[in-house]
Amino acid sequence: MLPPKKLKKAFKKVEDENWILRAFLKEQEPDDVDRLVNNLHKELFEGFDCVACSNCCKSIVPVVEENEIQVISKRLGMTDVAFKDKYLVKTEEGFIMNKKPCPFLTGIGCSIYECRPENCREYPFTHKDEIWSRLINLVENCAVCPVVFEIFERLKKYYGDEFEQYKEKYQELWG
Ligand code: SF4
Ligand code: SF4
Repeated sequence: MLPPKKLKKAFKKVEDENWILRAFLKEQEPDDVDRLVNNLHKELFEGFDCVACSNCCKSIVPVVEENEIQVISKRLGMTDVAFKDKYLVKTEEGFIMNKKPCPFLTGIGCSIYECRPENCREYPFTHKDEIWSRLINLVENCAVCPVVFEIFERLKKYYGDEFEQYKEKYQELWG
């Protein structure tokens, strides 16, 4: 798998192709896509050292739900108001961390790991079902998560000629 430092450059090279793969996947049987992506998630994350990577914690600001704010602020010995003031910013999506990299990221991983937000626990969402509804985010996450990048590369190989033909037609139509 690619090291996180090389991802952005590598993604630029395959970005157009990955958007075409997104369109192709939208036309496949949803259960098949879920099964393929879920299996690749399992295979690629097994033994993978997320602490050494931590690229999501450096690049993405997670949403923190109100109930999570209560739990984390209590764990830090702060009031929820002080916690919001210090670490969060309010957006249309709700509260999000106010800094990148995340202020809770340390050299040995997340300092609030046991009560980290669900958004962090579930990232990159490749173990979930209804993958078709997450494809835009997944394409974008190819630039952040080495596992998501690799899942897309493996899907291209899996669909092989079928995808290559789709890609040619797509390019003829849309340039
Ligand atoms: S809370 Fe923890 S897991 Fe979530 S982004 Fe911050 S460091 Fe990463
Ligand atoms: S989820 Fe992806 S980006 Fe985040 S630490 Fe693990 S491999 Fe890296």
